[in-house]
Amino acid sequence: MAGIASLFWHVLFPVACPICGRAGSTGCLGCIKGVLSPSGPVCIECLNCYPCDRHTLAFPHYFGAAHKGPARQLIHLLKYGHHGALGISMGRALAACLSFPLPDALVPIPLHNESPRFFNQSEKIAQGLSLELGVPVMNCLSWNVRIHPRALTKSYARSKLPEGAFKLDECKLKADIRTVMICDDVCTTGATILGAAETLAKGGLQVLGSASLTLAKGKK
Ligand SMILES: [Zn+2]
Ligand SMILES: [Zn+2]
Repeated sequence: MAGIASLFWHVLFPVACPICGRAGSTGCLGCIKGVLSPSGPVCIECLNCYPCDRHTLAFPHYFGAAHKGPARQLIHLLKYGHHGALGISMGRALAACLSFPLPDALVPIPLHNESPRFFNQSEKIAQGLSLELGVPVMNCLSWNVRIHPRALTKSYARSKLPEGAFKLDECKLKADIRTVMICDDVCTTGATILGAAETLAKGGLQVLGSASLTLAKGKK
């Protein structure tokens, strides 16, 4: 009987938590929290401890776990799976384990124009953070179409994005939003976040910091 009930449940909700296997859950909040092991923020310029002696003007980057083991697998599932709800749970778990000054809005790194993905995983994480923190998500960035994706791939290796890699959608800005936090799924060199921060700052917004579920610490 239990088997039939479980089968029925699985037909209704054909998903299971990737950590505990519970049917009907794309990822339990408690399970995701268990995977996170937050430490203090890092300097967005060099990814070493924040505050940083070398980069006194840099903002802090907050993250939930090192990009390895189950945390890395969760990111992989979010990127290549089809369940955006997992990203929302990730954002909620991240909010519960970090403490930072609240911005007026959360700005996700946009999905690249040519991405085949069904949803923007960074936006899902931002939505989860938003639910817990009561701070709105502001989708005001997009990749600049004039920049060829190959130039971006090359620039990741150089850890500096080409000038103007992002553009600001001015009509999405709101008068009462002055401070923002940038959200991404994984931070590797900080180049993407720094590129986004430059564009936001040019638009008159103050970037208080950035947050990602994991930190990979690629080569600078
Ligand atoms: Zn679970
Ligand atoms: Zn630094």
